[in-house]
Amino acid sequence: MNQTRIDDSATVELIRKLVAFDTVSRNSNLELIEFIRSYLVANGVESQIIPSADGRKANLFATIGPRDRGGVMLSGHTDVVPVDSAEWSSDPFRVEERDQKLFGRGTADMKGFVAVALAQVPHFLSVDLKTPIHLAFSFDEEIGCLGVRPMIEAIKDLDVQPALCVVGEPTNMQVMTGHKGNVSTRVHVRGLECHSSRAPMGVNAVEYAAELITFIKGVARRLAAQGARDTAYDIPFTTAHVGKIDGGTALNVVPRDCRFEFEFRFLPADDPQSLLGEVKDYARETLEPLMKAVDPDTGFEWEEKFSFPGLDTAPDAPVVSLVTALCGNEKTGRVAYGTEGGLFFDLAGIPSVICGPGDIDQAHKPNEFITLEQVSKCEDFMRRLADICSREIL
Ligand SMILES: [Zn+2]
Repeated sequence: MNQTRIDDSATVELIRKLVAFDTVSRNSNLELIEFIRSYLVANGVESQIIPSADGRKANLFATIGPRDRGGVMLSGHTDVVPVDSAEWSSDPFRVEERDQKLFGRGTADMKGFVAVALAQVPHFLSVDLKTPIHLAFSFDEEIGCLGVRPMIEAIKDLDVQPALCVVGEPTNMQVMTGHKGNVSTRVHVRGLECHSSRAPMGVNAVEYAAELITFIKGVARRLAAQGARDTAYDIPFTTAHVGKIDGGTALNVVPRDCRFEFEFRFLPADDPQSLLGEVKDYARETLEPLMKAVDPDTGFEWEEKFSFPGLDTAPDAPVVSLVTALCGNEKTGRVAYGTEGGLFFDLAGIPSVICGPGDIDQAHKPNEFITLEQVSKCEDFMRRLADICSREIL
């Protein structure tokens, strides 16, 4: 078999170390952040730690090279999705190497990228960078790109902010120029409880939820049939989806409460607020009058779960030509999943692309892995980046 050689054994060692921190989004990531901070200190690099509001988690931002010019930001998240250990054939938090692959939670999404970047820090320092390379590591990405926001505020306060950003989510080291945005909403349907033999005297929260969900499905069908199109996506239109529902207590009780969650994953050409407005209008104008005729205290309550903007970088933007050159692959595309790239551009105006090792197919699943070949390609990418940054000012 052809063996892929990882030039820097420190890379695999760092992947092992990062995966060993159980940074599932509900947990603190502070031990992992402290590990990275100490590692950078040992290399003579200062970090800025930007904590969450409750202090349980933190972002880390660090600059290698001069601080008076823009430079290239490497962005990664430190949290991972939960594991169901029973479905894993090895411990998800202990990297196991088999068949030229490293198995473990976060190897592909996306501690692999973070580790490769960190392993290259000594090299970045040795080449005398004219253009700085920034490291921007976040938390709570997997639960709606929530954690990166205070770090973006800190970046906006810098004298010079990064000129461009590479988000290292798994793309098999191919440049992706965009992704859809997401608006996720929680709905509470408040009805009126009574014995089911007297159903017309109550307000059935489950049934009214079902009527609204059917309306949302209608919007989804319309978007699929005649909504905006971007054929760079596998699913080339805005989608709507209901993913969770909970309501009722017993069959012989008209349910008082029903809660459900739905999302729009939207193309930049569609306005999610107007789609959401359509759903709310239907609830207010068509359903609530029927509910309130029985009891004025019934109705719908809305709560935004989270939202993040899409990313829509022009194929001819300078960030695209630079990063395609770095990964030696001219082909570009767009990804279905959300990333922090949309926020970096939307909130700070930093042109962004997505390019990282591993395959999104392996993410969010049992037995997640990254191939050594992908790790090695990402190392090549980082070395070319160091080379360009030591010669040119970006
Ligand atoms: Zn990710």
